[in-house]
Amino acid sequence: MIPTQSDQTRYIFVTGGVVSSLGKGIAAASLGVLLKERGLRVTLQKLDPYINVDPGTLSPLQHGEVFVTEDGAETDLDLGHYERFIDASLSQENNTTTGRIYRTVIDSERRGDYLGRTVQVIPHITDEIKRSVRVLGEGHDVVISEVGGTVGDIESLPFLEGIRQFRQEVGSRALHVHLTLVPYISAAGELKTKPTQHSVRELMQTGIQPAVLICRTEHHLDEPIKAKIAGFTNVDPAGVIEALDVETIYEVPLEFRRQRLDDFVLSCFGMTAPAPDLTHWTRIVERVKSPSRGAVKIAVVGKYTELVDAYKSVEQALIHGGITHDVRVEIDWIGSERIEEGLDPAFLADYHGLLVPGGFGERGIEGMIAAIRWARENDLPFLGICLGLQCAVIEFARNVAGLEGAHSFEFDKESPHPVICLMDEQRNITTKGGTMRLGSYEARLTAGSLSREVFGSPEITERHRHRYEVNNDYRSALKEKGMAFAATSLDGKLVEMIELPNHPWFIGSQAHPELKSRPTRAHPLFASFVGAGAVRAAGLDSPKTAAMGA
Ligand code: GLN
Repeated sequence: MIPTQSDQTRYIFVTGGVVSSLGKGIAAASLGVLLKERGLRVTLQKLDPYINVDPGTLSPLQHGEVFVTEDGAETDLDLGHYERFIDASLSQENNTTTGRIYRTVIDSERRGDYLGRTVQVIPHITDEIKRSVRVLGEGHDVVISEVGGTVGDIESLPFLEGIRQFRQEVGSRALHVHLTLVPYISAAGELKTKPTQHSVRELMQTGIQPAVLICRTEHHLDEPIKAKIAGFTNVDPAGVIEALDVETIYEVPLEFRRQRLDDFVLSCFGMTAPAPDLTHWTRIVERVKSPSRGAVKIAVVGKYTELVDAYKSVEQALIHGGITHDVRVEIDWIGSERIEEGLDPAFLADYHGLLVPGGFGERGIEGMIAAIRWARENDLPFLGICLGLQCAVIEFARNVAGLEGAHSFEFDKESPHPVICLMDEQRNITTKGGTMRLGSYEARLTAGSLSREVFGSPEITERHRHRYEVNNDYRSALKEKGMAFAATSLDGKLVEMIELPNHPWFIGSQAHPELKSRPTRAHPLFASFVGAGAVRAAGLDSPKTAAMGA
């Protein structure tokens, strides 16, 4: 029976040990997929131990992409995995941090909610942690909460204490999953379980007994090894799951299902549910691993290319576009500064599409502009996202509309032609955290535009994260020279999309379409962009026609 009342909600807490970067987010999301495909209403949450109230003020090079939700929350990139895996839109409630928890408690203290009492980590901070988990119980059968960081970190202690108490309070309606590493020592030719034993012991010192161990490994864990791990950790052997390296992250749910992880979790909860139908996941994995229609090479020219996590959703959305067209998308990440240092943009001749993603600050801007110029002049399919749109407008203003010195006000306060300027509502804002134009806004597409065809509907909603916009004073000058404003805000005041009708496929979007792309449903812009790339790859001369068929 599937329980429906929120006080029947089951809670799964996912922690990690031994080392960071084991893929807790993907593991949590994959378990989410299995439970969802069994008919349960699942949501996922990330509890981040850092003191920033949200990751919005963190460098993408330190923390990876900032994932923006429909309601405009700036969240951890794991929320992107969660959304893509369980195919649901999440919100601010699905991500909290130490900073947010403390801020809530301190605000209450200042209001006088605790008058006369000392405010402490236990119970006040841990109560707030538990509250932030419990609010997600409403309307869900299963809440999966992932604790960021690694067990043993000082900063995650309050979260571990909070989730320990949580299980104490709800009993068998909560269980703990711990992710560890089982390294292979090649000199000895052996897999080593000791780090896992130590990590579980560390976790047990906080009072948490895991029910499930997910063991990352490069080699198959045979039954004796699983039994050994189980024996040392008090975990049922059926709860010891191997997580071998896989070719695509979308394979992880299938691997977990093969080992009956979902059956084991349901049995711990005393629940039954129909077997999952993973036909579409199998199809996604087949298409990613062995597409039948060749490869499309995409150059992503941006700022934060040293860390692929900085553009996680862009990477995934391109892969989704490949799934749509049954092609392999090969992505090269190219730092735009390299072009400023002398790399000839003609290197783009080896690619079938150019994508310039979002970013902040001046570094590398001229390189992006030079790359976009090459794409425009050589009919290379181009997709510009946020900063990418802004650079495309600057490039066009300078090199086609003859507006010498055109720039964005973000980078050049003295420019004679600030074709990108600060949005009116941003003019008096001085604080940085959470103050951009954030989240979902509607836009109206222009009849007859390529974008209108690609989306297949006259109105769209897309997620935003920016302070600057196309300067309306220059709209007519740009339009006169052939730039089309393919979408605007509903009141017509903000340019949302641009395109070049004289180019096979050249589109810029002020919003971030990558955030809404799913493996089962590639975002139309990404599907169409990859389609245009496939046409270029096939050497045909009419990319526009094929792109439309995407
Ligand atoms: N820096 C630009 C702005 O704030 C672009 C932001 C982005 O690419 N997300 O408008």
